[in-house]
Amino acid sequence: MKRLAPEQLLAIDKFLVDDEYRHIVLDRDKCKSCHGRPCIYACPAGLYNLKDGEVTFDCAGCLECGTCRVVCPQSLQWEYPRGGFGIVYRYG
Ligand code: SF4
Ligand code: SF4
Repeated sequence: MKRLAPEQLLAIDKFLVDDEYRHIVLDRDKCKSCHGRPCIYACPAGLYNLKDGEVTFDCAGCLECGTCRVVCPQSLQWEYPRGGFGIVYRYG
């Protein structure tokens, strides 16, 4: 079986985005004082970024892996999406 690159695997998945509930919520003040901002490097979907010195984040595209929850030193608010929403894996 042919091996697919991570980007190709992500493109196969389907996301049912919940516009009324964010399952991951950042505390902007804590993010400003966060040392190293590990979420930016650890999120496999690349959902955390730095813009004008501030961490930006978008729930859409979340793989629900929990990595950001583990690496965040400041108790990131993290839940699974509500029932019927979130990622639908289509490979493996
Ligand atoms: S690791 Fe946590 S506190 Fe630090 S920037 Fe990321 S979400 Fe914010
Ligand atoms: S749960 Fe995983 S994919 Fe979702 S934002 Fe956190 S690290 Fe990224």
